[in-house]
Amino acid sequence: MQFENTLEFARQLDWQDSLKEFRERFIIPTLNGKEQIYFLGNSLGLQSKNVKQEIEKILDQWGSYGVEAFFNGDAPWMNYHDQLTQVLSRIVGALPSELTVMNQLTVNLHLMMVSFYKPKGRANKILCEAKAFPSDQYMFETHLRKYDLNPDEIIIEVEPRKREHLIRNEDILDAIHKYKDELALVMFSGVNYYTGQVFDIARITKAAHHAGMIAGFDLAHAAGNIPLRLHDWDVDFACWCSYKYLNSGPGAVGGCYVHDRFHRDENIKRFAGWWGYNRATRFNMEKGFRPIPTAEGWQLSTPSLLLYASHKAALAIFEEAGWQNLQTKRKLLNDYLWFILDEVNKMTSQKTIEFITPRPASYQRENERGCQVSMLMLERGKHVFEALNKEGVMADWREPNVIRIAPVPLYNTFEEVWEFGNIIATILNQ
Ligand SMILES: *Cc1c(COP(=O)(O)O)cnc(C)c1O
Repeated sequence: MQFENTLEFARQLDWQDSLKEFRERFIIPTLNGKEQIYFLGNSLGLQSKNVKQEIEKILDQWGSYGVEAFFNGDAPWMNYHDQLTQVLSRIVGALPSELTVMNQLTVNLHLMMVSFYKPKGRANKILCEAKAFPSDQYMFETHLRKYDLNPDEIIIEVEPRKREHLIRNEDILDAIHKYKDELALVMFSGVNYYTGQVFDIARITKAAHHAGMIAGFDLAHAAGNIPLRLHDWDVDFACWCSYKYLNSGPGAVGGCYVHDRFHRDENIKRFAGWWGYNRATRFNMEKGFRPIPTAEGWQLSTPSLLLYASHKAALAIFEEAGWQNLQTKRKLLNDYLWFILDEVNKMTSQKTIEFITPRPASYQRENERGCQVSMLMLERGKHVFEALNKEGVMADWREPNVIRIAPVPLYNTFEEVWEFGNIIATILNQ
């Protein structure tokens, strides 16, 4: 499509957008009575208007039935979980039985490490990306210390080459090969939080398996953003949070995937709790842990119904919009964003924005890119960021000089993308 840098053109794209009415389902933050341009769906997705109602339902059930709400009424809490995993299975490409919704991301990563980090003699190393999200780094560090291992010796980080921002896929695959006798686990994110780089989950997993190790992924910035086929890609385990692209609210309940080949593995180690115990006999309260033979066998505690409720409401909107439709709009919106950003660079006397995120064209496969663009500001970065805020643009600042923006298909518009370009160009030309 031939894009144009005009308000009329952007409005026409919105008019043609089959998902345009979904914005109405969300509460858009305002500044001085005007809706803000919210490009922070990668940080905390906006609240959909059905969340309150879904939470109120739980409160009403609690009020009406007390603890019996687990079993009584038209939607007993005991089965609530299944509604979530059905929808999620389409979003992350897994069997519903491979999914569980529990805890939060960092906790789940620790739990997965218990099961899937199995050091054997010299093969005790973990391969991961350099500059992973800090919580993941702290998770590795403290987890390894628990086993009296030195994180500096165990963790091998793949870095971008000199003067590059991104980690080359070939370098990841080469590292897996190079260290194959020393590695126990390969763990990457699906989309790097800082650069927006999408990793090739399928190829990393294949290479890891070929070398006889486990492949796990942190999908915090991937779930609800890019298409995933965890089961087909043969991924061993994955975890994500639901408050970013999945719009399920601050501190929303996390998601966890375990490939079904592990569900009945009696040798697998885990930290257990009563909610992972076989459903049929759980309430016999017997000694000796017998896991549910699905990903639910990794659950520990009583479900967080209030968090389930907001997750359910948010997922219902994904379901209604249609995952394929969202993919189509994500790509078009992202293409338009790149076009507008290039226009901005042309409108300033010298180039002021360098892009860290790979350009769409640099991806070989159609789908491999997300919503986010990370812009390295070559001058006055902090000033530009603050000026954007004053103009009602909500973006994200990362030291030393990076502004991250992530227009999402459910509630952002082409007009917002155009307006963003207009605002930032004005700021840069001042
Ligand atoms: C957002 C994010 C987290 C945050 O973890 P919580 O336990 O949900 O606070 C962890 N890892 C990555 C890669 C993230 O992007």
